[in-house]
Amino acid sequence: MQDARGDDEVEGNARIFVAGGSTLIGAALLRQLAAQSYTNVVGLPPGEPDLRRAAEVESFFSRFRPEYVLFAAGKSGGIEANRLFPADLIIDNLLSECHVIDAAHRHGVKKLLYVGSSCSYPKHCPQPMQVESLMSGPLEPTNDAYATAKIAGIKLCQAYARQHGDNFISGIPANAFGIDDDFSPAGGHVIPALIGKFHKARVEAQPAVSIWGTGTPRREFIFADDLADACLFVMREYNDTQTPINLGCGEDLSIRETAELIRDVVGFTGELVFDATRPDGMPLKSLDSTPLIRLGWRSRTPIVKALMETYEAYLFEARKLEQEGIHVRAAV
Ligand code: GDP
Repeated sequence: MQDARGDDEVEGNARIFVAGGSTLIGAALLRQLAAQSYTNVVGLPPGEPDLRRAAEVESFFSRFRPEYVLFAAGKSGGIEANRLFPADLIIDNLLSECHVIDAAHRHGVKKLLYVGSSCSYPKHCPQPMQVESLMSGPLEPTNDAYATAKIAGIKLCQAYARQHGDNFISGIPANAFGIDDDFSPAGGHVIPALIGKFHKARVEAQPAVSIWGTGTPRREFIFADDLADACLFVMREYNDTQTPINLGCGEDLSIRETAELIRDVVGFTGELVFDATRPDGMPLKSLDSTPLIRLGWRSRTPIVKALMETYEAYLFEARKLEQEGIHVRAAV
């Protein structure tokens, strides 16, 4: 990684804080940091401060003095979680990003990467989405509260950089999925939710699985471990604080295609039934990641391999819960 001037290679023992180390993306960042021999990671879960509390964040930064911050904190969820809990999502994200970004400034953090969300693009955005389109039109109503908080995080980084010269950059990831995902039907994004649904249907020999919406929306997905690699890459290679950078791999799938891949990975042989009474959300979310690709980054994990690893993680988690005596019906 580089320092604020973008000219010194950071030693593997620099103090690094992953804000949100238990989130899907945060946990993947911790794995990547370990894999790339960054050994001095501070505030590892469960020792992370409660980022919604200013005093806890302040005392954490005073005590551990992180030099580099990767921000992957804040509650997130799929289309149903956004419908049910918009207030939880907006307040959790706003508080966490305000506290961490302000503390990072006051404690002289050399560089910070804020991981945003592709929900921040307008609903009817030219595709593939370029960062110039941010704030150019109304948000998708199914996730506008969460998206507003994620836009505020980008604005915070830009403002602190302009006013104080902080090297705080923002990345906007494609729809991430992977090992530490939320597999619950109500909370999860489409991939983990469907892994859970297909698995249950296979074990219980159900004839069909309900897929929400029409199946026609398209999403660009990225495996969380690849995304984490992209995050560390931009920490080293990217220093434009006023221009967020898209973090994607350039391929999108329809929800129908996604469901068919997951069905095959899980080994379900029944039918897919599309429930058009459920919302579709954004018609298409695909990122223009040309700047990232020009810098030389490439994703490594083909989608089927990534889905298989995610399914294995689901099975592992389900077995663990069984052993702990928590009954997950048909989970193993
Ligand atoms: P989004 O990318 O913010 O819209 O969030 P999701 O990942 O939750 O949903 C993506 C698309 O998958 C939407 O069109 C959903 O209607 C569709 N979808 C189909 N089945 C499911 C499901 O079981 N769970 C979720 N979360 N989405 C589903």
